Amino acid sequence: MKLITLEEHFLDKRISEANDAFNPPSPEQPKELQDFYKSRIRFGQALFDIKDKRLPYMDSQRISMQVLSYTSPISDKVPAHEAVKICRQANDILAERIAEYPDRFAGFATLPMADPKAAADELERCVKEYHFCGTLVAGQYQEHFYDEPQFFPIFERAEKLDVPVSFHPALINPRIQDFYFTSPNWGLAVAGQFASAGYGWHMDVGIHVLRMIMSGIFDKLPGLKIISGHWGELVPAFLERLDYMFSPEITGLKKNISEYYKENVYVTPSGIFSSMQLEYLVKLMGADHILYAVDFPYIQPDNVYEFLDESNLTREQKELIAHGNAERILHLGGN
Ligand code: CA
Repeated sequence: MKLITLEEHFLDKRISEANDAFNPPSPEQPKELQDFYKSRIRFGQALFDIKDKRLPYMDSQRISMQVLSYTSPISDKVPAHEAVKICRQANDILAERIAEYPDRFAGFATLPMADPKAAADELERCVKEYHFCGTLVAGQYQEHFYDEPQFFPIFERAEKLDVPVSFHPALINPRIQDFYFTSPNWGLAVAGQFASAGYGWHMDVGIHVLRMIMSGIFDKLPGLKIISGHWGELVPAFLERLDYMFSPEITGLKKNISEYYKENVYVTPSGIFSSMQLEYLVKLMGADHILYAVDFPYIQPDNVYEFLDESNLTREQKELIAHGNAERILHLGGN
């Protein structure tokens, strides 16, 4: 069983430095918070090092191919014309690294969301020139969600090129962080984790995907495909309720929320290897709407192959999730 995983992060120092140049150093942070952030970057070297860190892990887990993406978006503090340049460089560098191991890696483009027309063009360049297989977007752009009309050209182009857009978490709006996730009952480290990878940023991406559906974008672009990690970021369990609350009479959409979700959204585990989630999502969405993902290097489970291979699914379902769906949707062909 060939394994293709597709939430696998990558960094290059030149791009981090170009990005950081536009982010003023933050004021002195409390030690508790500094330690928290340090613990989060303990896998840092594996982001950069393909030969000695990434490939040995892939081999140990029998992963045939990773679809690489930059670990965080180009900062929304970078002016548009600079963002266009940095993204272009970022994609060129990623393409070079992929070319060193073309049978082991594919890529998701990084796009300058500051300039949606340029972002659409960059996506097209990456797909046509480098055979990248989609894009990964993270968080919002300057407090604007991507359902807003100015971003439409990016999704229109993705549909035209027949490549998916993967919605990934990022740090959430500080006002939401303060309101929902801080308390006199716990410290800054717990608040930071609660607001990010512990819960908050997953809730945030789940809402983002729902906003895309509510915006009617899938009526305009019925072929658009969205990838949502972490078993759909808390949304799948709520689909019946969403259908009950948001009938087409209320939303003005052509279909129920769950119909768009099951048709246009593809879900991955992002390294949360829970059998109950796997079986539930296959039952809900069908095995043809589940893709495989580890979230390397932030998560490095040692049962990537066994989790799927030893599950209760049929051989055909396992093959779809392991590689068949990725080959079909990301045009990784080969077979
Ligand atoms: Ca991730």
